[in-house]
Amino acid sequence: MRSAMEPTDDIFDQLGARRVINGCGVYTDLGGTILSEPVWAAMTAINASAVHMPELLDRSGERIASWLGTEAARVTPGASAAIALGTAACLTGMDGEAWERLPDTTGLKAEVVLQQRHHYKYDRMVRLTGARLVFAGDEAGTTLEQLEAALGPDTAMLMVPGHLDRKPGTVPVEDVIAIAHRHAVPVLVDAAYLNYPVARMRRFQEAGADLVCFSAKYFYGPNSGGLICGRRDLIAAVAGVDFTRYESGNYLTFGRPFKLDRQIVAGTVAALQAWLTMDHEERWAGYAAKVDLIAASLRGLPGVTAEPAFFTMDERLEPAPVNCLAVRGAFSPDAVADALAAQDPRIMTVPLGDVLVIAVDAMRDGDEQAVAEQLGAVVRRYT
Ligand SMILES: *Cc1c(COP(=O)(O)O)cnc(C)c1O
Repeated sequence: MRSAMEPTDDIFDQLGARRVINGCGVYTDLGGTILSEPVWAAMTAINASAVHMPELLDRSGERIASWLGTEAARVTPGASAAIALGTAACLTGMDGEAWERLPDTTGLKAEVVLQQRHHYKYDRMVRLTGARLVFAGDEAGTTLEQLEAALGPDTAMLMVPGHLDRKPGTVPVEDVIAIAHRHAVPVLVDAAYLNYPVARMRRFQEAGADLVCFSAKYFYGPNSGGLICGRRDLIAAVAGVDFTRYESGNYLTFGRPFKLDRQIVAGTVAALQAWLTMDHEERWAGYAAKVDLIAASLRGLPGVTAEPAFFTMDERLEPAPVNCLAVRGAFSPDAVADALAAQDPRIMTVPLGDVLVIAVDAMRDGDEQAVAEQLGAVVRRYT
């Protein structure tokens, strides 16, 4: 029997989309990562029966909370949904009528404070709930005093994009939490990809954050999985406002469109468990081996350099640890990327100024062979 991890052309022909070899890394538009056999097995196992979704989410949330050392946790359909549902929970608490009324925030505290230099792509998830974003400070930065001045009688939550913590000109998360708690306001941290080293997944909650959001796409779980963890009363409010019990309960809740399949819940939990227990040195060594194999295809090409490097989540290159190959030469990285993307299967890579980045951390095992063959040929053609 063919392994679930082997690509077949049939499904792509049937659906009319072309297969892609992912040389970019973990990107939502490329479908996230390829799920491992154990994660897929968990999804297949739960597919075999029905389950009471509220029970599945409550009990699996308890397991996640025990692993992450938080009071409570809950699977969500991604980190974006976790931000929206966490915000909704901070606005409504256990007020069922408010779960139903959102995004109408009449009668609720509905301001969410964010530092101006923390303005980023995903803060719009806060506004889905009807909350209003209030920016503290300006483009030059935010001081402690400006942050405190932005809090008022309508402040429902402070938000911190975890990856932007300690950006110059911003108030560090510890101080944000201290100010917020002085005003009895909860703090939500988007830690979507801040999952490594794994012990660091606890850093925001240890600093006192009330809610922390992670995306499963970054721990090799389902592209549409994620989780929110933190304070018990706020996770209870997330459970109240999310999609569960819309049909069987008393309220037509705001969170209904953020629906989960049991397979995604099982896959997210299995992927998290695997992430927390895997040998990460072996994972990095696997990336380095793929990068070496691809680099070998360029050896001896005049004027071409191919260096192992680290392609960061915010799309910069650092020396280590290795998860990509950075290729430079007398060719246009855009032209080479386009030529690779025109192959069948498409080979997607990242042209970054004068460098072509080929990331291997979301590449299927074995695909590095095809990349090596095509890359050598295409670079030769364009150099
Ligand atoms: C990807 C990402 C999200 C959204 O996560 P999803 O699970 O895809 O909804 C949120 N914040 C950051 C920083 C991300 O990189």
